[in-house]
Amino acid sequence: MHDLTRCVQHPVVSQEGFRSLAVPTYRASTILYEDAGSFAARGQRGFDGYTYGLHGTPTTRTLEAQLTALHNGIRTVLVPSGQMAVSLVFLTFLLPGDHVLVPDNAYGPVRSVCRDYLAPRGIRHTLYDPLIGAGIAGLIEPRTRLVWVESPGSGTMEVQDIPAIAAAARARGVLVGCDNTWCTPLLFKPLDHGCDFAVEALTKYVGGHSDLLLGSVTVRDLALRQGLKEVLRSLGIGVSPDEVALALRGIETMGLRLAHVGRVSEAFARRLQDHPAVERVLHPCLPSCPGHDVWARDIRGSGGVFSIVLKPGAEAALNPALTALKVFAIGASWGGTRSLIAPMAVQGDRSVTPWTHPGAVLRISIGLEEEGELWAELERLLDALATAGAPALA
Ligand SMILES: *Cc1c(COP(=O)(O)O)cnc(C)c1O
Repeated sequence: MHDLTRCVQHPVVSQEGFRSLAVPTYRASTILYEDAGSFAARGQRGFDGYTYGLHGTPTTRTLEAQLTALHNGIRTVLVPSGQMAVSLVFLTFLLPGDHVLVPDNAYGPVRSVCRDYLAPRGIRHTLYDPLIGAGIAGLIEPRTRLVWVESPGSGTMEVQDIPAIAAAARARGVLVGCDNTWCTPLLFKPLDHGCDFAVEALTKYVGGHSDLLLGSVTVRDLALRQGLKEVLRSLGIGVSPDEVALALRGIETMGLRLAHVGRVSEAFARRLQDHPAVERVLHPCLPSCPGHDVWARDIRGSGGVFSIVLKPGAEAALNPALTALKVFAIGASWGGTRSLIAPMAVQGDRSVTPWTHPGAVLRISIGLEEEGELWAELERLLDALATAGAPALA
């Protein structure tokens, strides 16, 4: 064989006696076929067969199978981001003339996809009070195809009565999709509570290290999976096996990370309630959080993300105080090892449940730093704000 040919044909080595605990990262565009006949018949391999790298490799199928098992589903599809996972469900199951119900506290870009992408294409949406429960029945129209839920809601943390909402929707033949990113399948399994789609931003707790973007949709009905796969195939959307390999590593420690950040976030939330700079703490573990009883009934613990509403009066001091942080970092996204703080603009993102608190809202994501050091910095930040706000508060 010529050297140039040797360069492009890797030698086949024995895999006999080799077993690793790591899932191999299979990179592929081309998938090889035994013969011309099986190549010609590749369209009959179905969605579980291997046909082209974009549509799945053993690496991506491993993460899909793992998420499917964790969610008590039947299949999972992977997409390049959490936002894509949400919008894929919308794009697949909503046609012009259809209608979707979306909670008023949903992850911001979900409101945007409804307003800026679906609406111009003749797909209507109605924003609803996340605490509506079984009352969702009153908003279902003849063309309503999908009810979206997200619990606890982004930023303001209201917990939704998903079993009640799902029961009302299913009674009318309406699909229910749940953004489960805060809970992960370890704390809540939407498919067990009547939902048709369990969506995760794997970017957050599954990835766990702020270095990847991925999303997933898990279903318990093969026909729904087929619909999702057909859209992914038509639009040419797939995921990188390298991102998936990072997620396969991250998911191994998710249980330990989540247990830790959940415990710390609950402890901090309880203590922060008494701080003079804090108007309100928004954490589902607190009886004052809207939907706390539902959290206690349905959700098996806490994630590491919660919010605080500051008393008004310290606005001018807020940015310098945040800039001075050394342990907490300022940034969006969450679920990694670093603790983050992000000021949230809630007011402009509300339509049917007006946000009336005048003070700033800070979203806090607890990471894996030493707990005492985190608490000391949080206390320093709030003490500075309390001092700055004191004259206004008096
Ligand atoms: C971050 C997030 C998303 C989007 O995930 P990306 O991977 O960043 O696109 C969706 N829903 C919720 C609740 C999130 O927190």
